[in-house]
Formats: sequence, structure tokens, C-alpha cells
Amino acid sequence: MVTAAAPMHLVMFGRPGSGKSSLAEHLGAEFGYQLIRTGEMLREAVRRGDFLGARVENHLARGDLVPDELIFELLEINLKSPQKARLLFDGFPRTLGQVELLDRFEKKLGFAIDCFVDVVVTREDSVARMTGRRVCPTCGATYHLLAKPPRLPETCDIDGSHLEKRKDDTMEVVSFRQKIYEEQTQPVINHYLAVSPEICRSVDGGQSVDAVYAETCRVLGVRR
Ligand SMILES: [Zn+2]
Repeated sequence: MVTAAAPMHLVMFGRPGSGKSSLAEHLGAEFGYQLIRTGEMLREAVRRGDFLGARVENHLARGDLVPDELIFELLEINLKSPQKARLLFDGFPRTLGQVELLDRFEKKLGFAIDCFVDVVVTREDSVARMTGRRVCPTCGATYHLLAKPPRLPETCDIDGSHLEKRKDDTMEVVSFRQKIYEEQTQPVINHYLAVSPEICRSVDGGQSVDAVYAETCRVLGVRR
């Protein structure tokens, strides 16, 4: 059940590997939050292949960050009546530049974020979670060396194929993503803690998936 006090417009933060995204999906499914994911919006625009998509693709092809202006346009296209919808921004804003973008977007469209949730996990835990993921190249089954290990080391339970890491899960990429998070997104969290401490919440992401979900529901004031 969603109580009147439950936030309408929510931002979730968490390191790569914090479990934030599946937590967001679970909340979305149970309480009707529309998930706002700028990464997905960007990929979607490229797939549509329209003018905006072509501009996005240009930046991605060059390996540039997509400029905030483009992200603003994408948000406008994707969010028609944000003041009426229950929104969950998953991993946005992730830089101080995007904080300004969100401020501008809120003013223009007449809504306000009413809760920031930080899913706190240590760097060590995040790295262990991300580098432990394995996928079967034959059937696509996914495993995790800690949370869901295959019966035989590095071997698919279903078809015996040798398991692989996803390209993104090498130690080098994982460490880089942690560093980016610490340098760019931690300042965003600190910013909101300084300007809006009354609507900032944190959740211990180091617990079991069920415990993290229960704690998140509690801090949000939603009842299941
Ligand atoms: Zn398999």
C-alpha cells in the first residue's frame, strides 16, 4: 500500500554494483513508480534513429559524455506530466552539472523531488559483486561466484559451457566505474545532504536483497 506520505518523486543513488537498479525495478513494480534511466533513454533515442538520436549517437561514437542539454531534451520528450506521475530517477543526477539540469527541469515542469535515497555499499563489496558475475555464452544463464555459484567452478549447470565474464565486469572497468562514482556522484549526494538533509535517506545496501528492500520501504514510508 502506498501511503499519502510516500514520496512521489524519488532519486536513488548507489555505486555500480550496489543493487540499486534491481531495487528500483522492484519498487517500480510494487508501487507504480515510472523508472527514469537516462542511459536507457539515450539508447532508445539511438534505436529510434531520429534527429535527436543521431546527435546522441555522434557523441557516443566519439566516446564523449552526452551533453546535459541533450539529456534535458530527452527528459522532456520522455516525461509529459511529471507533476502527476510517480517517478523514480535511477542514477540521475550523477554529476553536479546534472544537479543543475534537474533543478531547471523541476522548475520548468512544476514538480519537486521529495526524497533522495542513497543505497550505501562499500567499494570492496561493490567490486566483489561486480567481478563475481558470470554468464553462460551458450544459454545466457547468469551466475554469481558469491551469491549464486555454479555447481562446478566456471561451468554452466545447464549445458556445461565454460562461463564468461561480461565485458564490463573486468577489474579494470569495474575499478574505473567506482572511481568515476566517487569523483562525480559522491559530490552530488553531499550536495543534497547539505541543501536538503530533511529529505535525504540512506539504506544499508550490504544486507540481503530482501532486507535492503524492506529497509528501503521503511525509509520511504511505503507499506507492503
Ligand atoms: Zn548454459
